Amino acid sequence: MPEAHIIGAGIGGLATALRLCKKGYEVSVFEANPYPGGKLHAIDLNGYRFDLGPSLFTMPQFIDELFLLFEKQPELHFKYKRKDILCEYFWDDETRFTARKNTHDFAKDAARAFDEDEETIRKYIGSNKKKYDLTAPLFLEQSLHKSKTYTSAKTLKALMSMPSLDVFGTLNGVNQRYFKHPKLVQLFNRYATYNGSSPYQTPGIMSMIPHLEMFFGTFFPEGGMHEIVMSLYRLAVSEGVHFHFDSKVDEILVDHGKASAIRVGDRVHNADLIVSNMDIYPTYRNLLPSQPAPEKTLAQERSSSALIFYWGVSKAFPELDLHNIFFSNDYQSEFDHIFRKKTLGNDPTVYINITSKDWPSDAPDGCENWFVMINAPGDHGQDWAEMKSRARKNIIRKLNQVLKTDLEPLIAVEHILDPPGIQNSTSSYRGALYGAASNSRFSAFLRHPNFSRKISNLYFCGGSVHPGGGIPLCLLSAKIISEMVPNPKMND
Ligand code: FAD
Repeated sequence: MPEAHIIGAGIGGLATALRLCKKGYEVSVFEANPYPGGKLHAIDLNGYRFDLGPSLFTMPQFIDELFLLFEKQPELHFKYKRKDILCEYFWDDETRFTARKNTHDFAKDAARAFDEDEETIRKYIGSNKKKYDLTAPLFLEQSLHKSKTYTSAKTLKALMSMPSLDVFGTLNGVNQRYFKHPKLVQLFNRYATYNGSSPYQTPGIMSMIPHLEMFFGTFFPEGGMHEIVMSLYRLAVSEGVHFHFDSKVDEILVDHGKASAIRVGDRVHNADLIVSNMDIYPTYRNLLPSQPAPEKTLAQERSSSALIFYWGVSKAFPELDLHNIFFSNDYQSEFDHIFRKKTLGNDPTVYINITSKDWPSDAPDGCENWFVMINAPGDHGQDWAEMKSRARKNIIRKLNQVLKTDLEPLIAVEHILDPPGIQNSTSSYRGALYGAASNSRFSAFLRHPNFSRKISNLYFCGGSVHPGGGIPLCLLSAKIISEMVPNPKMND
């Protein structure tokens, strides 16, 4: 059996391991941490369980697909439920809005709350669907770097629809074209953060992102987000994938233009195929230092990072749900601080995720596990101690004001993750959540392909390469790789 070695057990690495195993490779995964999952890790603190990374789960069908690949019934191994409420929104002036899952309800509620035309809201939602349907098969589901992609009928249709895709304006520009109420514009601008970008820079085509939530839905996995990777890990183990934890790969060995082995400390492991699931930047800089690197790709602006406070809160807040947003009063200035000034403003938008709302055992009775996140610049050596302490005060002040509470004495336990922490625990360059930012209309084309153009047998999956960051896209990167690697069964 040909051997495939995968560097990293993030969600992209786990999905690639499963797909290559199914194809007939003997798969080994080498992971620097003592656990699988990468950014999808979790901790327990005095009876409070916290997912450390992702909190929003969309497109669960891509996880189901991996179980179906092995003829297993997904619901017996990984359970999730669709959420009725997408998000609870709060503003400082006491405006509140509950975004319901049904687009009809959403349009009706939003029209009333923001004094907008219901039909215009429906038209906007419909145009987002059109953008997604036209471009997903081209930009997300196949390699952008193979010539056959550009000769398919679907691609030609997408290219001919370019003018209606809003590639040339910004997301904020598109949203302002549809809506007059600044709060509804802000609500839809927020979706730029789903790939770590600024709504004032990212192209208008990104208005397809709300479609993912509003059409396909948002979901909660039983047991929390960590169950996503743990269920895939258990499946991989049961299918014979070998895992090596605490095994930081130091080098990819290249022999006559062919990736031939990886080195972990002083041990060399030969392979027929190598897939790097680690961030593309350290893959080139650390594991392939003597190979020519794709400098333009590595120089791409990185996505935003995050500052997260994990708070065990000794009180229940009935007005909150699983996903909650407390908007900044000056959204544009917030993104200017993050992307241009590389610092934090004093009025950040605060996101609170509370899994104990849907999974009560995540917190003691009458208490809640708050994952309190603000978007942050990547790590450029700033004074994080100062920024964290300032952010903490600003967040508490904002939440006290809007929720009419006194939060500080309610914080029973605390853990903090900052951009350097994200970089240290996952090797994500500058602590970026989603690899490169999508702040330019060329971002998708500059993202690294899922294969090496110069080194044969070398492939790349995960959030820093095509098609991009976030759980669903990492899962698609695995699928694209599995469709391009040689099929061992053909050589039997
Ligand atoms: P990663 O999770 O980046 O893992 C890479 C793995 O490679 C790590 O385990 C690392 O230890 C290992 N590794 C690195 N170097 C080496 C080496 N030399 N040798 C061996 N192993 C190595 N996405 C969503 O869909 N929804 C969300 O709500 C969401 N929110 C987020 C919030 C936060 C705080 C963060 C951090 C991310 C969030 N994301 C979200 C993004 C999502 O987490 C990522 O896009 C995705 O998990 C990245 O997976 P990956 O496959 O690229 O691997």
